[in-house]
Amino acid sequence: MKKILYLFLSVTLLFLYSCIRSEDTSVEVTNPTPISVKKGSVSGKVFAQNGIKPIGGALVFTFDDQNKLFHTYSDPQGNFSLETPAGNRKIHIQTGDGSNFRTVFNVTVQNKEDITVPANVTKLTQVATMAYVKGSYDEIEDIVIGLGYTITEIDYNDLKNMNTIAAYDVIFLNCGSRTMGNSGTSTPNSDTVIYDNLATFVTNGGSLYASDWDIAYLIGGESHTTACNTAGGFIPDLLLCSTSTGSSTTYTNCTVSNVNLANALGFSTLDIQYDLGSWQKIISYDAAFWEILVQHNNEALMMRTNKFQSASSPAVPVGTSVNSGFITICHDDNGTPVTLTIDQAALQAHLGHGDTVGTCSGVSTSGNIYYTTFHNHAAGNIGNTGPILEYVILNL
Ligand SMILES: [Zn+2]
Repeated sequence: MKKILYLFLSVTLLFLYSCIRSEDTSVEVTNPTPISVKKGSVSGKVFAQNGIKPIGGALVFTFDDQNKLFHTYSDPQGNFSLETPAGNRKIHIQTGDGSNFRTVFNVTVQNKEDITVPANVTKLTQVATMAYVKGSYDEIEDIVIGLGYTITEIDYNDLKNMNTIAAYDVIFLNCGSRTMGNSGTSTPNSDTVIYDNLATFVTNGGSLYASDWDIAYLIGGESHTTACNTAGGFIPDLLLCSTSTGSSTTYTNCTVSNVNLANALGFSTLDIQYDLGSWQKIISYDAAFWEILVQHNNEALMMRTNKFQSASSPAVPVGTSVNSGFITICHDDNGTPVTLTIDQAALQAHLGHGDTVGTCSGVSTSGNIYYTTFHNHAAGNIGNTGPILEYVILNL
């Protein structure tokens, strides 16, 4: 084999030599193209685990040998085309900060080659463990399961046990769960154990979804919140006020105010049907703490924060994603910060060019809190709120 290779190299060298010899010496000599400039592309379509639902807004990225980032986002139909440096490349697909849902696959890309990868390698894989507290109106678990992901039911009393909830990365608090779980056996507005546990959960990186009446977990109240400054909750009253004064109606021309969300969805206005009265309207909020995702005129309808942190919460390991061999960083892409989750083994190289551990915005060690006034419900067509709720699930 060695002999054959030697022979081949010799012939090649002779050939090259004769080529050079035959050319005029004054001809401009083109420098060989450096490896890093040789590029191809990788195209495909991001799907949820069910293999049916296309996922828009997913971050698709890879690095060259110098850890320079190449990245793009899937369009609302899930399609992406990533310019990729030639060579053996690891392609990452992620939503959110990449800690809960992500997929990695390897490709070998030749210069100027466009590779289309099959759908079975571009499905977004669930890394997180997720739980929900059963509600009486919202059934977010149906949407989670419909996307092909798994979720465990826990109940109101499980929230009193920090060991139980610390096993999860994401917890969904469905509208009405406090009425269901409570059954008149305790008074939620004095349930300080639950509030402390939820504060500890988020402070240590867990993410929460709360819909409609379950805002009471966040800001106090019993089955729901009737007034500002109600006792209980773990988010300071100054940061959010909600009252259960919504009426049964349809809001037309609501706005998707978050650009990333609108880009992922492919639409920026929608009508939202509130099929029941007494829903939790957002009365006031701190705009430095909450980011509004959906609104109707100036009324906030869906919001999130990654800025919650409780100084009094103990350090508790939360979830499974922290021990997965991956780590979330803020990568500096020529001055633009991009949140990525990368292999732990690659961390040192990224720290070496100035990246930092944790997400690029908010409190880097805390999880997200999403609050939505509208939600999945059994009694009606949720219309274009469906894709919004799917986005929330994938970005918690
Ligand atoms: Zn980096």
